[in-house]
Amino acid sequence: MRTSHLLTIVVAVAALVLGTHSLLAQPPAGVAAPGPRAWAAVREADLRRDLFAMAAPAMRGREGGTIDELAASIWVAQQYETIGLVPMGENGTWFQWFNMTRTRVSTAGSMASVAGRTLGVWRDITPYNVVPVEATGRVLWLPTPSDTTVDVRGRIVATPVQSPPPASVRTTSYPTRVRYVEAAMNATVRMLGRRGAAAILVVATDSVDAAFDAITVQRERGSYDVDRATPRSSNGSDRVAPVPVAGGGVVPSFLVRASMLATLRAQPEAALSIRLERFDTPVVNVVAGLRGTDPALRDEWVLYSSHQDANGVRLLANGDSVLAGADDNASVSVAQFAAARAFVAQRPRRSVLFIQQGSEEKGLIGSRYFSAHPTVPITQIVAVLNGDMIGRNHPDTAALLGAQPPHRNSDDLVQWALAANARTGKFVIDTTWDRPTHPEGWYFRSDHVSYARLGVPALMYTTNLHDDYHTAGDTPERIDYPKLLRMTRWMYLTGWYAANAATRPAVVPNFRLER
Ligand SMILES: [Zn+2]
Repeated sequence: MRTSHLLTIVVAVAALVLGTHSLLAQPPAGVAAPGPRAWAAVREADLRRDLFAMAAPAMRGREGGTIDELAASIWVAQQYETIGLVPMGENGTWFQWFNMTRTRVSTAGSMASVAGRTLGVWRDITPYNVVPVEATGRVLWLPTPSDTTVDVRGRIVATPVQSPPPASVRTTSYPTRVRYVEAAMNATVRMLGRRGAAAILVVATDSVDAAFDAITVQRERGSYDVDRATPRSSNGSDRVAPVPVAGGGVVPSFLVRASMLATLRAQPEAALSIRLERFDTPVVNVVAGLRGTDPALRDEWVLYSSHQDANGVRLLANGDSVLAGADDNASVSVAQFAAARAFVAQRPRRSVLFIQQGSEEKGLIGSRYFSAHPTVPITQIVAVLNGDMIGRNHPDTAALLGAQPPHRNSDDLVQWALAANARTGKFVIDTTWDRPTHPEGWYFRSDHVSYARLGVPALMYTTNLHDDYHTAGDTPERIDYPKLLRMTRWMYLTGWYAANAATRPAVVPNFRLER
């Protein structure tokens, strides 16, 4: 009862926000729905079979920058070949290969010692940010980090981790204990951030200590970037950022084990020598295509966008260490296979491009590279239909990002997507996730953004975050397959409309993203 009452409100709000005509959204004039043969090619059984294959333990979580992502990419290309698409990568292949730049704390090159004892980097002490440090001297123990009467300038400060404000603990990303520690570290470091300490050693409590390894497995990966690519933000650069230097404005902070408390309280001598290393690692985009039937329109492309990577093999929890990424993002990857089968069964007027972008989880790497180096002219891509996580949560709700200002960059495309929803999924559109005020900043966290920045009409389909997001719990058994089928048909029909409309979707003039 309460749920349906809420849904009614959401429908009303959606109608207001998306425009009064949204509930009467029309497909492009003169475009008929696909025929029965095409509809029949979108099958729940295919989605299920493909999803169990792509998110199988043998795929090892398809982590970007590892051989597991490359192996999964070969598998993705084989699916497209079987379906009957043509290779649209580089040099006549299914692939676009390029390098990603990884910067991390060097385990072999770094050293930490306290009271004459060498600490294991990542075992006893975890560097929290990717910055170099050279600091020695007597530790300054600060029982209360908010105590501003103590001069911390130039010192190695040790302080107990603080309880975060409850509202600062994110509710929808990563396991609870990790979210808690992230918020606690932020709260603690913020109190000392601008006071000139040389380094901050944040001492864990027993409960924070329980998440130490989970934090470490994230932090030791470092940071990732890609050169000559679409920037990550409106004022960003297309080049890889320089290697961070000491004193560059970031105070190096560290999480140290709870067992260090007594030692650090005694204010012993300490030495920290943290060095960085940077190297390139291969990434691949998988690109497949289907040529349209209309000689006047077939050099224009509708682009379906997913990512094949997930988060790899990490810590053992509840008997599983593979972050299989069933919802994120095998769900959309297999939806693209199903849509491809339907387009093969009934070809559209425009051509259709299907892309699985590598290393999305490392910072939208694949889409930032492909959008800057597309294998068809970027001006000939008329629409991007990106999806990320489309198989979970309430069966009747979904989100369409890029549907309201300031994210909405094509009124036509939004109208067609809403018309397609009315004829397929009939989802209640949860408009909150598309707002610039949403705490998760969800709009900016998937591959459509790279294209929207370049003025290409772009949407993101999603059924939003859930408790299994980026955990070993994101498994194929937990996908709602009937819902995934409806999401797939929604994405397929939107693309059908875009691929058959007499004119390509218009772009909102002076479109500019808020970040
Ligand atoms: Zn994703």
